[in-house]
Amino acid sequence: VITFRELEKWYGDFHALKHINLTISRGERVVICGPSGSGKSTLIRCINGLESFDQGQLEVSGHPLNRRHLKAIRGKVGMVFQHFNLFPHLTVLDNLTLAPRRTLNMSRPDAEVLAMSLLERVHIAHQANKYPGQLSGGQQQRVAIARSLCMKPDIMLFDEPTSALDPEMIREVLDVMKELAEGGMTMVCVTHEMGFARQVADRVVFMDEGEIVEVAEPATLFDRPQHPRTRQFLDQIL
Ligand code: ATP
Ligand code: MG
Repeated sequence: VITFRELEKWYGDFHALKHINLTISRGERVVICGPSGSGKSTLIRCINGLESFDQGQLEVSGHPLNRRHLKAIRGKVGMVFQHFNLFPHLTVLDNLTLAPRRTLNMSRPDAEVLAMSLLERVHIAHQANKYPGQLSGGQQQRVAIARSLCMKPDIMLFDEPTSALDPEMIREVLDVMKELAEGGMTMVCVTHEMGFARQVADRVVFMDEGEIVEVAEPATLFDRPQHPRTRQFLDQIL
């Protein structure tokens, strides 16, 4: 459902992504890890067209990623960031119903039924009428996940969804992500949560200096890394 072919990206003179080849199948859960500045965010942001690229091809949900298909692809790909980016002046419920009403032309009652079902899925339905500022970080992140799900995405991207959270709130967000994975969602997650990667990921991608250095099942990548750069990184973080 996602295919990178020989993708290259530069920021000016800086070669940010180097000959990226990667195929992700429907329902697959992929974790991307690697040192700061290795290109993880750049790679994941290419998938929904938030970053452009200079060479190679990227296919998402059956379409080549280009200007003509950008809108269709964005509609099929949800993204959750480190900072939750909720609209502070809207209630939780209105944060969720905004896009379905505007983009999918859903009626308000239909959008609210959908929103409430997703808020239940992330265990936060009782907070529907609060404003984001009245919620904890973990609760806000779960609202952000529910808001993405409102658009009925094929693919969910997560860029360090728990790294701005206090330790006691990380668990509740990871649990929601696990449930989403168990429901069969195609997921690409940049995260340093190695426990999550071990439990949930089908494959782990290790990046360094804009390259994909190694791709393997979590048990292989973490316990028997093949590449010295992977070993060095794991020694630092584990
Ligand atoms: P982190 O773990 O710190 O989030 P990352 O692996 O997500 O790092 P990226 O954000 O993808 O790294 O950045 C990769 C490299 O590209 C970095 O060296 C960064 O400085 C550079 N870079 C990112 N965005 C831009 C930009 N808009 N203009 C120029 N350089 C950029
Ligand atoms: Mg990043």
